[in-house]
Amino acid sequence: MTEQRVSDEVEKLRLQLDRDAEASGYHLNPDAEFVRDLVRGLITNERRYGYWACPCRLASGQKEEDLDIICPCDYRDPDLSEYATCYCSLYVSQTVLNGEQEVGPIPERRPAPERRAQAQAQAAVALSGTLTYPVWRCRVCGYLCARDEPPGVCPICKAKKDRFERFM
Ligand code: SF4
Repeated sequence: MTEQRVSDEVEKLRLQLDRDAEASGYHLNPDAEFVRDLVRGLITNERRYGYWACPCRLASGQKEEDLDIICPCDYRDPDLSEYATCYCSLYVSQTVLNGEQEVGPIPERRPAPERRAQAQAQAAVALSGTLTYPVWRCRVCGYLCARDEPPGVCPICKAKKDRFERFM
């Protein structure tokens, strides 16, 4: 693939992410060149693993193990709330966009592998309710819905179906 085609692909995805973010109440980092570098990482990871593994983290290459770090990751919203940026600084808060706040390095919120396994086991125990329909939770934005199957795309943050977990 020529360098020009790569640049076009990166720019196309950057614009799409920007549109999707704005439509959902999120904002991309205003530094377009910085965002292009991250988008390049997302495209590379998609080719390598088949999904948008976070460009700032080490993916295992096993989708089930990496679900929480498929962009947008499970940690974006709490990091935006607490630090005004996601771990990679791809997404930033309105205050950063307005120039009222600067972003810097933030701590990794993703638990260590053994802690993640423990949290999954606890969630499984919590699934013992007897509702008419199962409740599904979007792991990215927390959206909840009660239906037989999770929606194909989260109506709030546009995360795909595989980012939903059975909540209760
Ligand atoms: S939202 Fe930010 S931290 Fe999370 S996967 Fe995407 S780029 Fe990485």
